[in-house]
Amino acid sequence: MSSHPSRALISRSALSSNIDLLRATTSSQLMAIVKAGAYGHGLERIARWAHDDGVTWFGVAQLTEALELRRYVPDARILTWIFTPGADLAKALSANLDLSVGSAWALAEIEAAARATGIVARLHIKVDTGMARGGFAIADLADAATKIAALEAEGLVSVVGLWSHLACSDDPTSGETEYQTAVFEEARTVVAEAGVVPEILHLAASSGVLWHPSTHYDLVRPGIALYGVSPNLEVARAEDIGLRAVMQLEADLLTSRDVPAGAGVSYNHTYRTPAHARLAVVPLGYADGIPRLASNVANVRVNDAVCPIRGRVCMDQFVIEGVGLEAGQTAILFGDARDGLPTADDWAALTQTIGYEIVTRIGRQVQRVDAP
Ligand SMILES: *Cc1c(COP(=O)(O)O)cnc(C)c1O
Repeated sequence: MSSHPSRALISRSALSSNIDLLRATTSSQLMAIVKAGAYGHGLERIARWAHDDGVTWFGVAQLTEALELRRYVPDARILTWIFTPGADLAKALSANLDLSVGSAWALAEIEAAARATGIVARLHIKVDTGMARGGFAIADLADAATKIAALEAEGLVSVVGLWSHLACSDDPTSGETEYQTAVFEEARTVVAEAGVVPEILHLAASSGVLWHPSTHYDLVRPGIALYGVSPNLEVARAEDIGLRAVMQLEADLLTSRDVPAGAGVSYNHTYRTPAHARLAVVPLGYADGIPRLASNVANVRVNDAVCPIRGRVCMDQFVIEGVGLEAGQTAILFGDARDGLPTADDWAALTQTIGYEIVTRIGRQVQRVDAP
C-alpha cells in the first residue's frame, strides 16, 4: 500500500490519445493549455509529456506559472495572459515568454520592459469579441494597433498573434460564436489597417476545437479536452467524443465498522442507516477538493462495487457504505468511463458544477503519480 492515503493517477497514454484526437480534429497548430497546474493534473508532468508528444506551444494564465513552466519546456513557446500592473515583465521577457496585451497599461509596461532589457517583446494582441473579460475593445483597437505598429518599427516588440476567447462555444446552438468570429474578422482588418500583420490568429478553446471548425484559424488552445473531460457534458460526454480521462482519483480506506439500524452518520446526521450497515471512511474531504455538495449524492467504487457516500463530506474524510468494506481497500472516486468508473463529469453533474471545477480543485496535497 502507498504511504499516501490518496492519490491522483495521471495517465500518459490517455493524454497522448487525447492529443492525437485533437490533432485529428484540426489542421491548426495546437497550444496545450496547462494553467491551474495543468487543470490539477500537475504542471511539470503534463508539460513534459505533451512536449515529448511534439507539442510546441503552451498556454498558462498566470505569469508565475509561465515562469515555472519555462523550466520544464526550455525550448517551447509559452503564452501568458494574466499579470497585473507592476508585474515583473523584464523577468517575463528574459524567460522568453510570449505576452498577451489587451490594455493600454499593459502595452506601456511591456514597452518599458523591452526598453529596459533590450529584449524584443513577443506580443499576442487580445481583443474582446464579446466576453467582456479581457482584451482591447474593438473601439480602442485602432489606437492600440497604431501604437503597437510604432513600437514594432522601433524594434521593441514583435507581433506574433491576434487572439480572443469565445464565451459560448460550448453551446453549439447559441449563435454567439458566429457573432464573435465576425468581430474577430473585423479586428483583423482594424490591425491590418494600422500596419500590424500578426503571424497567427487564434480563437478556439476545447469547445471551439470540437464543435466550431470555423474558429480554428492558425492555432487552437484546448485545455479541458486534453485531460479527457468534456467542455459540456450536455452536448457530449467525454467518452462519446473519444476522449480518455487522464486523472483517476483514489484513496485507501481508513477504517471500517458495522453499525446498527438508526445510526446517524457524520455531521448533523443527514443520513441515518435504515438497517444494519457496513461503513468505511475515505480519507479525502472538502479540504482536498471533494465537493461538500457530494454529501449523500455521489458514490465511489471499491472492488467494482458502487458504494454511496453516507452523510456529510467532512474536511478530510467522508463515510461510504458497502458490503465487505475493510480498511486498506482502495476507493476510486472517478476515472475513465471505459473502465466502468464514474467520471469527473458525473461528479460535476451531481454537485451542480462542471468537470473543470472537479479536477482543478483537487488539492495539491493529493499525490500525483504516474498511472500504471
Ligand atoms: C482556459 C482557457 C483556454 C482553454 O479552455 P478549455 O475550455 O479548457 O479548452 C483557452 N484559452 C483561454 C484564454 C483560456 O483562459
